[in-house]
Amino acid sequence: MRELTEKARAEIAAAGSSAQLEQVRVRYLGRRAELPLLLRGVAQLPPEQRAEVGRQANLARRDLEALIAERMETLAVGEMQGRLAADAIDVTLPGSPTVPVGRLHVLTQTTRELEDIFLGLGFTVLEGPEVETVHYNFDALNHGKTHPARARTDTFYLSNEVVLRTHTSPMQIRAMEAHPPPLYVVIPGRVFRPDSDATHTPQFHQIEGLAVDEDITLADLKGTLLAFARAVFGDERQVRLRPHFFPFTEPSVEVDVSCFQCSGSGSMRDGSRCALCKGEGWLEVLGAGEVDPNVYSAVPDTERNAPGYDPEKVQGYAWGMGIERIAMLKHGIPDLRLYFENDLRFLGQFG
Ligand SMILES: [Zn+2]
Repeated sequence: MRELTEKARAEIAAAGSSAQLEQVRVRYLGRRAELPLLLRGVAQLPPEQRAEVGRQANLARRDLEALIAERMETLAVGEMQGRLAADAIDVTLPGSPTVPVGRLHVLTQTTRELEDIFLGLGFTVLEGPEVETVHYNFDALNHGKTHPARARTDTFYLSNEVVLRTHTSPMQIRAMEAHPPPLYVVIPGRVFRPDSDATHTPQFHQIEGLAVDEDITLADLKGTLLAFARAVFGDERQVRLRPHFFPFTEPSVEVDVSCFQCSGSGSMRDGSRCALCKGEGWLEVLGAGEVDPNVYSAVPDTERNAPGYDPEKVQGYAWGMGIERIAMLKHGIPDLRLYFENDLRFLGQFG
């Protein structure tokens, strides 16, 4: 019997879990185990042996039961702590996982920034159709019948009379048809041309400006664009106007802004040539001009609207700038196509 209890003690001590310990208990104290059988067999022993064998067997059983109960408690505490650690809930964590928040596309950001600047200067924001008639896209804007921009290699035609607008300028006519002077509007929007390379994409964005009032001169245009240039590129900027040609403005100008990377000097502090302006000191940003009197004559003087765009009474200026170009200059973006490739590594850098 001693051998048996020693073996049971060793197995109790070695049990690694309450389940293993239960197996040990069944093995030594279960209904068919050796010790209970011995106890049940006491009655068949000779009377002089019964008392001593029964006493020892009972002692051994109680001893093992006590050992098992003690070991069971130790194992249960350990197992409970293990479960608590595994199921731990950190109540300080947010109730729902954080979802990555998107942001506005850099072109939308730039468009809104430009809108805000011109709203601050007293302009109203208008939008117009992306599908236009040849009348609004070319004829009313004083493009001669043979103007090269009308070619099918330069314009997406939907039919002989309907195109995807190649610029936001058709809205100059639509705005004047809808509103009598004085008129101060900017028109942001998407435009389309069949070009595709590092500096051209089939769709891009412009923001058109049109101001028509009495006694408007090119100086008003320059002052407006100087305010724009300083708001976008910094307070130190200057603008310069270079003579150019557009069908619907006369005179027409290209507008340059002094380079913000080299402060207009064309060279960097270490004497190297400024890469942004290529040593010119100036950055070309947009085309503009005084509204050609022929454009006013395209605005019908109907009785209903009576717009009153009489070239003898009103003057105006207009500009069109590429929103992609403004954002490229401002953020140092090297390739126009990056805007439209939807690469989050690029888009995530803005805003
Ligand atoms: Zn420069």
